[in-house]
Amino acid sequence: MGEIEDKLAELRQTFRSGITKSVAWRKNQLRALIELLQDNEDKIFKALHQDLGKHPVETYRDEIGLIKKSAKYALSCLDKWMAPKKRRLPLLFFPASGEVVSEPFGVVLICSAWNFPINLALEPLIGAIAAGNTVMLKPSELAVECASFLAETIPLYLDCKAIKVTNGGVDVCEQLLQQKWNKIFFTGSPRVGSIVMSAAAKHLTPVTLELGGKCPAILDTLSSPLDIKVTVKRIIGGKFASCNGQVCIGVDYILVEKKFAATLIELLKTTIKKFYGENPKDSKSISRIINEYHFERLRKLLEDPLVADAIVHGGLLDKENLFIEPTILLDPPLDAEIMTEEIFGPILPIITLNNIQESIEFINSRPKPLVIYAFTKDETFKKQIVSGTSSGSLIFNDTLVQQLCDVLPFGGVGQSGIGRYHGHYSFETFSHEKAIMQRSFFLELEPRYPPWNDFKMKF
Ligand code: NAD
Repeated sequence: MGEIEDKLAELRQTFRSGITKSVAWRKNQLRALIELLQDNEDKIFKALHQDLGKHPVETYRDEIGLIKKSAKYALSCLDKWMAPKKRRLPLLFFPASGEVVSEPFGVVLICSAWNFPINLALEPLIGAIAAGNTVMLKPSELAVECASFLAETIPLYLDCKAIKVTNGGVDVCEQLLQQKWNKIFFTGSPRVGSIVMSAAAKHLTPVTLELGGKCPAILDTLSSPLDIKVTVKRIIGGKFASCNGQVCIGVDYILVEKKFAATLIELLKTTIKKFYGENPKDSKSISRIINEYHFERLRKLLEDPLVADAIVHGGLLDKENLFIEPTILLDPPLDAEIMTEEIFGPILPIITLNNIQESIEFINSRPKPLVIYAFTKDETFKKQIVSGTSSGSLIFNDTLVQQLCDVLPFGGVGQSGIGRYHGHYSFETFSHEKAIMQRSFFLELEPRYPPWNDFKMKF
């Protein structure tokens, strides 16, 4: 505990010094972060391979390249984001001027998850730096190599008096949560999100919670074979081709009309074969399960006898190599754990409906998802989904691409999270928007002061 308190004291002192508020400091740190990523590509490829068996293409796309892009975007926008925003005030306030000034919260805690261990640590860090905070970063202990990499490398590039890394497991996270922070940004499960929120409430600390849940993909009966092919590729891309299904915004399950299920399954099978070969276990393009605990968790989901009967493709498990084959299920029981808990692995249930319109009610009878994916060309149906459902985001006709987009907010709603980030939203997430009003001594209205009387009531 002493070490955490010492680090926190230094972060507080650095924040009080005011250094992190200067635009020069913020820009230097963002440039240094880009340099860190450029200089250490090979180390990051290696760490991600050791932790998750991630292919360098996935690592570059989802971690290095994406974070470099975000840091460059923040650098290019920082002056605009930091500039006070003038507000036109109603005549009632004349003579006066108003503006909104963004000020950093102070000392912030960022706790990240293991599935995109570099991305989920550095993307919020970009926002925290851009907004002028000092930061304690706690990477996930499950991505061991990436956590060590971050702890060793960040102090070599970034201002170590203002940005510190603390590694450790649940006990360390608990100790960190006992401290008073000016903001907590947490990425993880809804279960731990609620623990974080309770701890923050003690100090009235604002929180951003980037959580998980089950993200459905609605598949309308599409008009052309080409559309169907593209849909299937994008579904597989949004499931197995990103950390092998260990993705908060990955497709958790598909909703489709019964009459379309057989065609869909055949297409999924042929596309999986095309992407990963006859024996996906030999493919270098597919990530491994993070550890034995999660491997066993997924095995348990599949070994439920009613679920095992629903397997229509895959199902191979290799504990020694922490490998689970892309697996498709057809209509597993809706009360089985696989349909009540977030899967977070390479198992893809297909749930059939008589009519695709029923998908709205299906989704609404469950916790609000982080994302709803919907593949349809029907504009009326699109409008019904927009107005008839609630989710962190809603993506039509693609998967996962939203995480690359700096100008849309990324975050959940209800059980899938509180708050949002990416691009300007990250800057806002780590800033307090302070209202400033300047009045003149001129034009004094006496009726605003006591003693109160009937005349003042009418005024
Ligand atoms: P988790 O909630 O199990 O753990 C997150 C961190 O919390 C851990 O690193 C651990 O140090 C800490 N922790 C665990 N138990 C704790 C406790 N009892 N008290 C205090 N701290 C504790 O999540 P995870 O396994 O790291 O990640 C998977 C979850 O994260 C999934 O639900 C996934 O959907 C979600 N996720 C969300 C996003 C997003 O951007 N919304 C991104 C990635 C992952």
